[in-house]
Amino acid sequence: MTDRVYNFSPGPATLPFEVLEQAGTDVVNFQSTGIGLIEISHRSKEFMAVVADAEANLRELMDIPDNYKVLFLQGGASSQFFMIPMNLLGNGKKATYLNTGTWAKKAIKEAQLFGDIDVAYSSEGVQFKRVPEDSEYTVADDSEYLYYVSNNTIYGTQFAKAPVSDKMLICDMSSDILSHPVDVKKYGLIFAGAQKNLGPAGVTVVIIREDLLSRTPEKIPTMLSYATHADKGSMFNTPPCFAVYVVGEVLKWLKKQGGVAAIEKINKAKAQILYDAIDSSDYYRGHAEKNSRSLMNVSFNLPTPELEAKFIAEATKVGLNGLKGHRSIGGCRASIYNAFPQEGIVKLVEFMKAFEAANPA
Ligand SMILES: *Cc1c(COP(=O)(O)O)cnc(C)c1O
Repeated sequence: MTDRVYNFSPGPATLPFEVLEQAGTDVVNFQSTGIGLIEISHRSKEFMAVVADAEANLRELMDIPDNYKVLFLQGGASSQFFMIPMNLLGNGKKATYLNTGTWAKKAIKEAQLFGDIDVAYSSEGVQFKRVPEDSEYTVADDSEYLYYVSNNTIYGTQFAKAPVSDKMLICDMSSDILSHPVDVKKYGLIFAGAQKNLGPAGVTVVIIREDLLSRTPEKIPTMLSYATHADKGSMFNTPPCFAVYVVGEVLKWLKKQGGVAAIEKINKAKAQILYDAIDSSDYYRGHAEKNSRSLMNVSFNLPTPELEAKFIAEATKVGLNGLKGHRSIGGCRASIYNAFPQEGIVKLVEFMKAFEAANPA
């Protein structure tokens, strides 16, 4: 095996090495059952315990109140873009959305199929380089919910705190769930595709307030109703067993790190190293406005696209992988989720300084 490189990929993203090793063992022989993890019945007592533990650990780490259900669903975070309005907007009710990037825009497009969607704020005119203050938009009185994306994975912006509203919040936390404490009771629904900060691709975690389960219109497909999955403990059909298992292992790892408040401190320190490097040079330019900067995805540019291409190619050669920015904005992006080690960021900053010296603008 080649040595492990520093993987700055935005998702699927780096996972704790000890989780990968444990998964490797369990895939072949799960808990000495003589059956591999991806062969064992999802209704076996061993696998049912995996799901129960994952849920219990998520509840503990996020301090999820008892009147919320935790669901492990398929279809990616993108399926939540339509499941939410399909279940919650009945026949054409109103909802408010904040357009802070590609993922918000996609959610708005789907929601418009079901409801009367008020886009109360958009930073599209400024290349999505910021997220709003509370004072920059209003939420209509007859809105059912306020929808936002807490961390904009592509543009490298993040809400430093949840929007203040008397409406229930609905949030796409795909790329920053469990990176900092969240007050779950402000939310009607929280969802996250696992492959950024939580585990492998294939499972989407949904945390939904129980009373919302009864709002679903009758005539929607069984698989697309939240109540179906809530009633059956995410076992209405075969769940994505492997992905749920890895999420469970990542949650155990996070508990060992001291939980969400502890990882937030580490995340702040990690991001600071990189932002300090960007701020101390004219060569590197951060995409996000300072107040909107993400602790998870750091998007930045070099003086020219040619230098960016060279930077990415040379970084890869020294074991700094996955730094290419999203095709919609180009440039570079370092994704530094919970499991990304601080040494990798230090190494990136050393590389940035050496590259600047060797390649003047
Ligand atoms: C990656 C991402 C998505 C899309 O996730 P899929 O699981 O690929 O559908 C949605 N929202 C955010 C914020 C993301 O980062």
